[in-house]
Amino acid sequence: MNRPIRWSAGALVWRPAPGGSPTDLQVLLVHRPRHDDWTVPKGTVERGEVRPVTAVREVEEETGVTARLGVPLLELEYEYAPGRMKNVAYWAATAVRGDADAYEPNKEIDGVAWVPLTKAAKRLSYDSDRSVLDAFAERLSSGALDARTLLVVRHATARPRQRWRKDPLARPLSAEGKNEARGLRPLLAAYGVHHLRSSAALRCAATLSPYADTLHRPIVLDHRLDEPREGGPEKKRPVAEAMAEAVDHKRPVVVCGHRPVLPRMLEVVGVDASAVDADPLPAAGLVVVHHRRGEVRAIERHDPH
Ligand code: ATP
Repeated sequence: MNRPIRWSAGALVWRPAPGGSPTDLQVLLVHRPRHDDWTVPKGTVERGEVRPVTAVREVEEETGVTARLGVPLLELEYEYAPGRMKNVAYWAATAVRGDADAYEPNKEIDGVAWVPLTKAAKRLSYDSDRSVLDAFAERLSSGALDARTLLVVRHATARPRQRWRKDPLARPLSAEGKNEARGLRPLLAAYGVHHLRSSAALRCAATLSPYADTLHRPIVLDHRLDEPREGGPEKKRPVAEAMAEAVDHKRPVVVCGHRPVLPRMLEVVGVDASAVDADPLPAAGLVVVHHRRGEVRAIERHDPH
């Protein structure tokens, strides 16, 4: 009998060494007394969680550091017990809050250390974890660690179109959609989203509002991203202009839009529309694009559970 895979996620948190030169990097590793090993922080996905959220939660639990995810690094598979496989997705991440030195040792983790990148391979206990370092080194040398982050979200489930007689822009989220919107909160936080943009439709703005409220940030409403009227022409140029403004932000930006417009929104940043044409995003699903100087460095897709 095939046993189910255990899904996990973690992050390699990096920083320039304090007082060192900007190219002198350190990474955050943990020691676990139970296995007497040094590893990259990671852990098991909880019910209803998407992996970027797991990665940030586990880093926080195991190091006391709040991480913000950058580019994905790789997925590892290993046998964690006879006949049982684990799949772990890792991201490169930076620390936004918290102090690893203040972490209280406990029975899960009794050591948290910022280790010079050049010494990390030696400190780690597993070859597979060394491949996380290799993926990081490759991202570092290709300049991908400085990539900007764009999240494109399909709005959460709205009340049925057929039964809505008022202004189409005012059609609200359903109860399920409101739940989905709340579910997006930790996911947007995982990438450190700072700028929020949306079509002018209430169902798009409401998809972002739980996160906007937590962050006390405004949502910029943009009619250029509105859904074309039934049977009306698709407005390619306004979408392109709206997206060009969005990706001009240095800090991570989320843009919420409508399913028929999503391929155009993504095309503008160089993502092949087939990424969402062939297999459309579900309600509240999102694509994360890491890009730098007009070049796509990595693409992720996360469908809510
Ligand atoms: P977590 O909650 O972080 O998943 P865990 O202790 O339940 O922790 P693992 O870290 O996967 O699970 O450890 C289970 C077994 O797998 C241990 O024997 C450990 O030595 C081994 N192991 C842990 N990490 C790796 C790795 N990166 N490559 C290979 N084996 C590993």
